[in-house]
Amino acid sequence: MARVYNFSAGPSMLPESVLKKAAEEMLDYQGTGQSVMEMSHRSKAYDKIIKDAEALLREVMNIPDNYKVLFLQGGGSTQFAMVALNLMNKNNKADYIVTGQWAKKALAEAQRYGDAVAVASSADKTFTYIPKTDRSMFREDADYVYICLNNTIYGTVYHELPDTGDIPLVADISSCIVSEPLDVSKFGLLFAGAQKNMSGAGVTIVIVREDLIGNAMDITPTMLNYKTHADADSLYNTPPCYAIYVAKLVLEWIKNEVGGLDKMKERNEKKAKLLYDFLDSSELFKGTVVPEDRSLMNVPFVTGDADLDAKFVKESTEAGFVNLKGHRTVGGMRASIYNAMPYEGVEKLVEFMKDFEAKNK
Ligand SMILES: *Cc1c(COP(=O)(O)O)cnc(C)c1O
Repeated sequence: MARVYNFSAGPSMLPESVLKKAAEEMLDYQGTGQSVMEMSHRSKAYDKIIKDAEALLREVMNIPDNYKVLFLQGGGSTQFAMVALNLMNKNNKADYIVTGQWAKKALAEAQRYGDAVAVASSADKTFTYIPKTDRSMFREDADYVYICLNNTIYGTVYHELPDTGDIPLVADISSCIVSEPLDVSKFGLLFAGAQKNMSGAGVTIVIVREDLIGNAMDITPTMLNYKTHADADSLYNTPPCYAIYVAKLVLEWIKNEVGGLDKMKERNEKKAKLLYDFLDSSELFKGTVVPEDRSLMNVPFVTGDADLDAKFVKESTEAGFVNLKGHRTVGGMRASIYNAMPYEGVEKLVEFMKDFEAKNK
């Protein structure tokens, strides 16, 4: 069996032991004689899966008791509307920091429902940095401040959170959830489509402070109201059962095999350093992000020559390094090195890049 090194931005690699476990349990989940895919979401066996997934996420992320954990559908993109409908409810105002496509889309969606504005942006330099903000830049009566914590397309990350005072901070953590420890208590709401770092596509995780639930706008559809799902423990309707099960397996892997998020962070830093150090020393390739805002998860780079970029993508694919082509709006290359990418995968990629550089000087 030849598995490739998959640098896809999402859906992306899953740990091999998780895939093996899922395969092992495919036809007969723990003596039930059924696959998790075939199981009633109201069954005792499934109830344990979803409860275990929540308990594991709470443990691994150290989520305080006054936060609800929700397993929803609709991807990260549905949260762009859901956040606004549920949270822009006191003064109908929200402040957004625009650090790329995803934050821009979230802002556009919020503007359909209220006075949402961009208070800072890094569009002037193609989103290659995180704009500096201070408390005075946010409107005092904003219902929340919104950020995209890790910018999947541009490869930037907040190493330091903006100071928003008492205004709840909302963050899209789709591409960095469970990649390193995060102080959940600093946020009003966190959300993540799970297909980048936690599961297959289908489940979206929402972690929301309890006092922010229950004040949705009147126009909010039942299915887009956090209260609907919070009151029903994410079983108001059929949840994305299988993706939640895979999330549970991934969380077990983080807890038992990796040893928690501190260890996860160490592994991710070691991997990213290998690639960034090479990019910094290379005469052909260069990283596109300012060093202080570099992501541990998504590493965009270029040669400076579009033809050579295309040649690199073609040859690397043939060599078993797949999905290295940059986002269609940016060009160049991007290596997404999420939790499941082994150190060896980055090591081999760097070797390949060195070789490519030697041949194309
Ligand atoms: C991929 C991504 C999204 C969109 O997620 P979908 O689940 O495809 O809707 C939103 N935000 C970030 C940061 C992403 O990386």
